Amino acid sequence: MDRVAVYAGSFDPVTYGHIDIIKRAASIFDRIIVAVAHSTEKRPLFTVKERVRMLKRVTCNIKNVTVDDFRGLAVAYVSKSRARVLIRGLRALSDFEYEFQMALTNRKLNEKIETIFLMPSESYSYLSSALIKEAALLGADVSKFVPSFIEKELKAKLKRRIS
Ligand code: ADP
Repeated sequence: MDRVAVYAGSFDPVTYGHIDIIKRAASIFDRIIVAVAHSTEKRPLFTVKERVRMLKRVTCNIKNVTVDDFRGLAVAYVSKSRARVLIRGLRALSDFEYEFQMALTNRKLNEKIETIFLMPSESYSYLSSALIKEAALLGADVSKFVPSFIEKELKAKLKRRIS
């Protein structure tokens, strides 16, 4: 039976940190589903459709990766996808408390699903989508953090927001 894992998140937008985690996960599991959450709490810059399109483009060379979106609980999506594993990325210590709480809550919701944490290369361990959006808004060059087509879309979107 295929070992399928779901990497769920906002990916607003996808960064080299996320891509690092996707590659690591794809080398361990038979199939990875990168799942973009329709979050009602966060106010994302990019629509779910845009984020899915970006993720498809950055993963098009990784054979065992597919991209999807989901509403509601991540654990419900994982079990609907016939997967048993939820992948999350762990950066600095600051991620730990939130991720720990979420993993244990998810285990209470569905004890069959395991959360597995992967650490990115240390060069990406400080990267966050939020920081990149803020830096791009202030005119910074973010080409070290996201692929160039995403940097372009980011700048275009922020320009539209300001004007
Ligand atoms: P969420 O809104 O679910 O936190 P994110 O898109 O911010 O969604 O992140 C999805 C997952 O990827 C989370 O587990 C987060 O900790 C992880 N992640 C985000 N940025 C990085 C990075 N630079 N390196 C490794 N993991 C990351």
